[in-house]
Amino acid sequence: MEFKIAELEREPIEFDLQLPSGSIDFGEEAEQKGSLATSGRAEVIHEHRGPKDIVADIRLRGRFAGQFMVPCARCVEPVQIPMDGEFDLIFRPVNADVDPPERSITAPETEIGYYQKDSLALEDVLREQVLLALPVRTLCKPDCKGLCPRCGANRNLQPCDCEVGPSDPRWAALSGLRDRIKS
Ligand SMILES: [Zn+2]
Ligand SMILES: [Zn+2]
Repeated sequence: MEFKIAELEREPIEFDLQLPSGSIDFGEEAEQKGSLATSGRAEVIHEHRGPKDIVADIRLRGRFAGQFMVPCARCVEPVQIPMDGEFDLIFRPVNADVDPPERSITAPETEIGYYQKDSLALEDVLREQVLLALPVRTLCKPDCKGLCPRCGANRNLQPCDCEVGPSDPRWAALSGLRDRIKS
């Protein structure tokens, strides 16, 4: 869904959507499972920087909720997690701050994004909001055994025959050296 500045100038736009999986590409970090519910409101806010310098910002407020598959931090198997969040964001035209007028804007600018040309895509905003909301570390289960550092086997599924020894990579390097000396 595109919010066009010309339409927003006429009146704010309310939205309430179910985005099917696949409408947003979340990359390798997350995969949407089922539809993503999102609702909110977009409107124009005019920033008066001078008598003839008015910048049309888009304020986008809303929320999202859905199910996502993310890789387990230890064994990389996909784990389904529910995610939701709220946002309240300001987007400026991409060229509005090329030549900043003095330092007149003192409001915290951390939440300010930019829109290209004359419109803002809801999908782009949601992609960023979902990725920002991802948990730092997801485990498939609290005691996930992870992957064997030597053979790569998923140790939750199959115990492997690799030596149970120091997993410190320096030891692995030393044992490799020993093998070379023997040969
Ligand atoms: Zn795991
Ligand atoms: Zn192994």
